[in-house]
Formats: sequence, structure tokens, C-alpha cells
Amino acid sequence: MRAGSSLSHRSGAEALIVCAAGAALGWFVGGLLHPVVGVVMGVVAAANGAVSGWRQVYDWRSGWGVAAFVIDSTWAVVPVAVGLLAHLVAAVSRLRSRSPGYEPSLSRRQNRHVYRRGAHLQKGFAFTVGNVISSAGDVTRARRRKLITDHEAVHVWQARTFGPLYLVLYLLWVIAGAVYGVVVWLRRGRRDPLGKVIESCSYYLNPFEWWAYSRDDLWPPPGLIAGFGWRSPAVRPLSAKRARPLTPSTPPSRVPHDHPSA
Ligand SMILES: [Zn+2]
Repeated sequence: MRAGSSLSHRSGAEALIVCAAGAALGWFVGGLLHPVVGVVMGVVAAANGAVSGWRQVYDWRSGWGVAAFVIDSTWAVVPVAVGLLAHLVAAVSRLRSRSPGYEPSLSRRQNRHVYRRGAHLQKGFAFTVGNVISSAGDVTRARRRKLITDHEAVHVWQARTFGPLYLVLYLLWVIAGAVYGVVVWLRRGRRDPLGKVIESCSYYLNPFEWWAYSRDDLWPPPGLIAGFGWRSPAVRPLSAKRARPLTPSTPPSRVPHDHPSA
């Protein structure tokens, strides 16, 4: 019991400190734009700091962990705010006595939150918004675990890289891809199911997905219509990067930091 209570004391202290530091950062940076923006950013960063500090998700011993916290509290506060909704979905399911399956083994000191269940758009697909990965599924299976570390975690860092533009760019591609999919379907003589062509254009060929599937060494993905779209992977798979011996100047291989065109 004593070990457990000292752990929760440490979690409580970290929650308070990260909440206060996030609030100060968000409020200061947002305040440079407008006082109201400062208050809103401070509130979002405080909420993210409280839950992330309590769960000890930021890896303070690594520059990437510190960067993740600073970016989440400032530049990426919009996707992080949407991610708070995924925490809310998890909290509601807990209230209904259905555990959302929070997974510390994929979250603690790994700069992200992972739920086995919770928010999702499509059954069977994991769903990532901001720094929260929901519907991770049975992560005791190696393939499912790799989906989280090598694909979904890439989306977490994409959101940090593109900040307020991330969701807008992603959604714009989905819409444009759907329209383009209908055109392609007609031009190919309607020989493939329309839904599959639209899914290929708006989802699989989305550069953010091309990038993430490539990192997971899964390009072309099984769901993509054969011979459709990008021929080769956008970036090297993380598994190949891990296999390379690390030199002291090499950043942690689990952190995707390349641009897809790199
Ligand atoms: Zn994805």
C-alpha cells in the first residue's frame, strides 16, 4: 500500500506542476496574439498538463519529451484540445462502468495517451487526435502494438509538427480525395466499388496516412486498391531505423521527425 500511495503522491505532484507550467506557457504564448486567446490556450494547456502529469506521460529525461510538452501547450494546443474530447469519451465510459482500458505500458514516459477502447470513427481502426490514441484494441498482440508505436504515434507527432493546420489539412484532403475518387471511379469505367475508390483516395492516399503507413513498413496497405496512387513508401520504416546502430548524436528512433518528402 505504501508503494502505491507514494506513487500517487508523485503523480499528484507531477499533475500540479505540469498543469501550472502548461497553463503559464499557453497563457503567455496565446497572450502574445490576444488576451482571450491566451486564456483559452492556458485553460487547454492546463487540462492537458493535469491529465498528462497525473499519468506521467512526458519523458522529461529526453529532449523529445520536453519538446512534446512545450509544443502541446502552445503550437499544438488545437489538436490537443480535440484530444481532450477523447479523454472525455473515456471518462464517460468509465462512469458507465465500462473501462476505457487505459494502457500505461504504451503511454507512461512515451509522450502520448493510449486507450484500448474509447473514441473511434470506424470499427477496428485505432483513432488518434492530438496526443491521445483511442481504440488501440488488443495491444498484447505484437502486430497491434506495432500499429500504435509505428503508425498512430506518427500521427501524434504530425499533429505536433503541423499544430493548428494539422486537422484542417487532413480534412481538406479527405474532402478533395472523396471528390477526386468519384472522378477516378467514372474514368476507370466504374469497375471498382465506389466506396473503395473513395476510401483509397481520401484515406489511404492522404499524405499523412502515406507517411504513417510507410513508417509502419506497410506501404502499400492491404486496403488500398492494387496499383493505385503512390508507388513507393514516403519515408523509411521505423523498424529499419531501429535496426541501424545508434550513434550518440542519433535522436530516439521511435520519434518520427522526417517530413514525408524527405
Ligand atoms: Zn493513420
